[in-house]
Amino acid sequence: MHEVDMTRCLLLSMQSWRQRHDPATPLVSRVHLQVGQFTCVEPEQLCFTWSVAVQGSWLDGAQLEIETVPLVGRCIACGGTYQPEVANAYQSPCCRQPLEEIISGRELRIRSVDYTLPTPSSPIA
Ligand SMILES: [Zn+2]
Repeated sequence: MHEVDMTRCLLLSMQSWRQRHDPATPLVSRVHLQVGQFTCVEPEQLCFTWSVAVQGSWLDGAQLEIETVPLVGRCIACGGTYQPEVANAYQSPCCRQPLEEIISGRELRIRSVDYTLPTPSSPIA
């Protein structure tokens, strides 16, 4: 049910993004997302939840484009960065320190939105 909360979050962000274009409603074709590896989100599941959630709304038909951001941690002993792995309990390979500082991998961010603004309707001559 993680993805449902994420989708709710995204919809709220999109809602405030829309207000910047008020009173026009942008026609969104694609939303580019950055999703950290450590957020435990299944991209496919998120896409599915999203497509159901936007049905019938102003975002109907907008596709999610998900870019996965790898998990990177910093070793608290030597300051080196490394890619933590479940297999060794996320310890740093250099000094065997527990993962305490995460540099990337936890983000859920809208990177960009592909959209068009509706042209004001003009009478057809
Ligand atoms: Zn280290």
